Amino acid sequence: MTPVTYLDHAATTPVRPEVAAAMAPYAAQWYGNASGAHRVARRARRALEDAREEVAALLGARPGEVVFTSGGTEAANLAVFGTLAARPAPPGAVVHSAVEHPAVLEPCAAAARGARAVFGVPGVERRVAPVDGAGRVDPGALGALLGGEVALVSVMAANNEVGTVQPLDEVAVVVRRLAPEAVLHTDAVQAAAHLDPAATAPCDLVSVSAHKLGGPKGAGALVVRDGVALAPLLYGGGQERERRSGTHDVAGAVGLAAALRACAENRPAETARLAALRDRLGDGLAALDGVTETVPRALTLPGHLHLLVEGVEREELLVLLDEEGLCASAGSSCASGALQESHVLAAMGLRPGGGADRAPLRLTLGHPTTAADVDRALAVVPAVLARLREATGAPGRRRRDVAAGVRAQSGMGGSGR
Ligand code: PLP
Repeated sequence: MTPVTYLDHAATTPVRPEVAAAMAPYAAQWYGNASGAHRVARRARRALEDAREEVAALLGARPGEVVFTSGGTEAANLAVFGTLAARPAPPGAVVHSAVEHPAVLEPCAAAARGARAVFGVPGVERRVAPVDGAGRVDPGALGALLGGEVALVSVMAANNEVGTVQPLDEVAVVVRRLAPEAVLHTDAVQAAAHLDPAATAPCDLVSVSAHKLGGPKGAGALVVRDGVALAPLLYGGGQERERRSGTHDVAGAVGLAAALRACAENRPAETARLAALRDRLGDGLAALDGVTETVPRALTLPGHLHLLVEGVEREELLVLLDEEGLCASAGSSCASGALQESHVLAAMGLRPGGGADRAPLRLTLGHPTTAADVDRALAVVPAVLARLREATGAPGRRRRDVAAGVRAQSGMGGSGR
């Protein structure tokens, strides 16, 4: 059997053993509804509140500021719609960076279309802050968009495709000076595993997701700083102090806390370990013909390597890597797994990929990644590139054969994450 080398931790990470162990009692033994009154329910409630305290401490917040959600997408949607719906109409503009994840982009676009009129959000003005060639928001350019009434500014802590860390401190200074009425949200879904919580301290709202940290899928949180007005998206039993109704996922909250704890306990050593592995991988691959690093490493998360590879198509590249057991990504794909044009690369002034010019290749390392994984990638990627380039070098028919074979194999005219 082909050995599997998983270098797609920005897409998701496996649950850490200690996280699974912490969660297990709340699935089977203490399964109570945390809103109930009897002993099984009270036990669940205690675990939930302990998890809340721990999540708060690990994110630099107070327990009452933590709203548990079903993950990063819900947290970001709650940040956008919850902020807009809490303001008197018209609520003011939404401003976001050009490289946000769809979990932020799409609710902002929907708000601009007036799609959530049911929440009292009329069509709002949407302004998009440009980024530089490394994917960093220019605080000055952002400031130029902050005239008039601004309801929400959303700038992610670190980008999921290219790994660029944003200058949140500078962003916050500009927002507080030029739009003091605006709520500042950061999507810290990618950053939370790696960055100190102090990085998100200047923000009013912070979204996190457990499955990027070695926790379970379908669990996350939105930090809502005291005094920040937020209307709920979900109405019902009034859980989470009326901010997010629905029976609590106690095991998920416990898992989020345990995953954040694992990241925090080991952060400096793990950052150094991942950066060293990533650097070795980056040095080896960037030395290959036609391979360039998209963003200087000093500007990215420690486990993130994004490359542009000349002379190959991204579908072919990913499928052949997968055939060799190397799980990688192009960075941008939709729910079906089909590849999309990258709005992130486009915003950085790069060709968004898809043609036979330069294929984006994202390799992301995580808590289980070992030196052997890096060795394997250093062997597999050059071999696959040589195979593809050999086909490319041959005239028409042969190249089309490779492409057709690859597409047939992927089954969707594109390729997986
Ligand atoms: N924001 C970023 C930056 C992400 O990378 C992701 C997931 O890929 C999300 C939001 C969505 O989080 P979730 O998968 O928990 O809904």
